[in-house]
Amino acid sequence: MAKRALIAVAAGLVLVGLVVAGYQLVANREGSFCGFCHRPIHANTKVIAEIDGRRRTVCCARCAISEAYQEKKPVRLIEVTDYVTSKSVDPEKAYFVDGSRKVLCNHDAAMLDEGKQVHEMTYDRCFPGTYSFAHRIDAEAFVRENGGSIVQLQTLMQGVRAQ
Ligand SMILES: [Zn+2]
Repeated sequence: MAKRALIAVAAGLVLVGLVVAGYQLVANREGSFCGFCHRPIHANTKVIAEIDGRRRTVCCARCAISEAYQEKKPVRLIEVTDYVTSKSVDPEKAYFVDGSRKVLCNHDAAMLDEGKQVHEMTYDRCFPGTYSFAHRIDAEAFVRENGGSIVQLQTLMQGVRAQ
């Protein structure tokens, strides 16, 4: 009887180990999945942010800022990506478009289809998305098409504790 219990415990431990290993595998694919919301990262909206001293690759600036608000932790944007060229840009020099209609991280659309009940999209950490541009002229073109407003780093980070 004791032996059987031991086997059950061992099997349980193996299962836990597999789950942890699987989770770490996902976590290690940081380059392609957001360190916060685990959604796939788009090459042209990628952001490197430092939250509470830990550096992570994030799907967009909005997601990092949401995290900082939720966890009440200081955040700093290290590197953002030009939406047009997918090249990295210094956040200090970037133009951010905030509050546009463009939604790149739309996992919730799938959630709506799968379930019978309607999940109202009352809140999404990445919505509205914040996209960055190296040149103001590109940001303006984006706004003409998708709405939103152009802000710079200081305005974007207002209300968020900086490090
Ligand atoms: Zn995210």
